[in-house]
Amino acid sequence: MKICVLPGDGIGPEITAEAVRVLKAVDSRFEVEEALIGGCAVDASGDPYPESTRKLAREADAILLGAVGGPRWDSAPRGQRPESGLLAIRKDLCLFANLRPAVLYPELAESSTLKPEVVAGLDILIVRELTGDIYFGQPRGIETRTIDGKRQRFGFNTMHYSEAEIVRIGRVAFEAARKRDKNVCSVDKMNVLETTQLWRDVMTELSNEYPDVVLTHMLVDNAAMQLVRAPKQFDVIVTGNMFGDILSDEASMLTGSIGMLPSASLNEQGKGLYEPSHGSAPDIAGKDIANPLAAILSASMMLRYTFSLQAEADRIENAVRKVLAQGYRTADIYGPGTKKTGTRAMGDAVLAAL
Ligand code: NAD
Repeated sequence: MKICVLPGDGIGPEITAEAVRVLKAVDSRFEVEEALIGGCAVDASGDPYPESTRKLAREADAILLGAVGGPRWDSAPRGQRPESGLLAIRKDLCLFANLRPAVLYPELAESSTLKPEVVAGLDILIVRELTGDIYFGQPRGIETRTIDGKRQRFGFNTMHYSEAEIVRIGRVAFEAARKRDKNVCSVDKMNVLETTQLWRDVMTELSNEYPDVVLTHMLVDNAAMQLVRAPKQFDVIVTGNMFGDILSDEASMLTGSIGMLPSASLNEQGKGLYEPSHGSAPDIAGKDIANPLAAILSASMMLRYTFSLQAEADRIENAVRKVLAQGYRTADIYGPGTKKTGTRAMGDAVLAAL
């Protein structure tokens, strides 16, 4: 059970340190090794995803990443930007499935911009295909063409999915649903786009292999609306790269607190890169005020999806619920009547609650 830890930049080292403490507390068998990624790797070697990190990441069973980036590197050439390291590791490990839960703990219902009764107890999982769709389809570009007798610029992209790509992401969604409430909502735009008509057909065929899971379909425009109207109707949402990009951000904002949201990106072997949904928060780095819960919950996703340690994952999630119920809050989720807690102290509270 080898874990490669990539703390990265900004608050990354502070929050991953807490997640590692929690991981070691729930299971002493984990072997943890750290490496550089992002800005700190550029500083050390000129490469945001150095060969030594690549080797470790390939050998590990799972990767825990903090965050990368910061103003110091913003003017560097693209290949030496911290974010290039992130894209490189995703590509290197063929991480095609992005899992983003949006969970709103009842104690934090006031943090959402929606009415508490609409969002309290929200627990959805968005499964987004990450390596295909219009984001990667060829041909693409901006060209000058003659259209209607007029020379003008013309922009174009190509949306495509193969049957195998749809089956692959569909399986991730159905398997995830089996560990949850056994409902999958597949989101497409089949009334307009042939690619997504195929998406719907393949999902329907695949659902025959999962008779214990209920499959429904929804058009993406309706899904965007339902997510703010009645988000608790969803369990697992599965969709393509572009629709997933938009819907997962919309869903994460339902919870109102970016410091609470974990994510997982998986490949076909079940190897995963686990990271908080937020960035490196340079404005609060090194001050012991960042919220480590997204990183800790990312570690719990790692136990669930790579190591199949369901009971241990439940323990971590229950511990997080408990510290919130006890009133511990980092600055980003602090409100009147609660206890303001630093990064390290929040880690201590979770350890105590395990
Ligand atoms: P950000 O998520 O880092 O920060 C946005 C706001 O949320 C800031 O006010 C920050 O203080 C706050 N915040 C974020 N995480 C928090 C936490 N755990 N606890 C408390 N508050 C938290 O986004 P940004 O400011 O747009 O980006 C900062 C840097 O992070 C940039 O260089 C960007 O490129 C990078 N970034 C990296 C990733 C990644 O590594 N996956 C993702 C997004 C942005």
